[in-house]
Amino acid sequence: MDIPSELHNSGLKATLPRLRILQIFHDVEIKHLSAEAIYRILLNEKIDVGLATVYRVLMQFAQAGLLVRHHFESGAALFELNSGRHHDHLVCTICGKVEEFVDDEIEHRQKQIAKDMGFVLQEHSMSLYGACSQCGQSRLDALRRR
Ligand SMILES: [Zn+2]
Ligand SMILES: [Zn+2]
Repeated sequence: MDIPSELHNSGLKATLPRLRILQIFHDVEIKHLSAEAIYRILLNEKIDVGLATVYRVLMQFAQAGLLVRHHFESGAALFELNSGRHHDHLVCTICGKVEEFVDDEIEHRQKQIAKDMGFVLQEHSMSLYGACSQCGQSRLDALRRR
């Protein structure tokens, strides 16, 4: 589906900032983006949209189900396209990189635990925090240089 129809289907008017912001999520390689990151991309393109507007548009997209909002402990809220496919996250607390994973065994265990405790599971989010391969390696290198 193209961006204008995607907006239209979600009941939102196709304004320039909305079109461009949604397009960015489809274009960039990084899947999890903060309002600040989007704002900087727009600045680079000389599109004059304030940070508050960017944030408002992202919240509208999240409410419309186009985006999913995450509150990772590492910092600002991050948004990603709503793929409709469940996944969990690994978050680097040094550079902020976010990786996705799905593990059937973890999924299964979580459902079982909820069931054992008499919970009807609606949803879950799992985020693992640590140093990514690059940051972990450079930390080790720094230690070695001492
Ligand atoms: Zn990192
Ligand atoms: Zn994700």
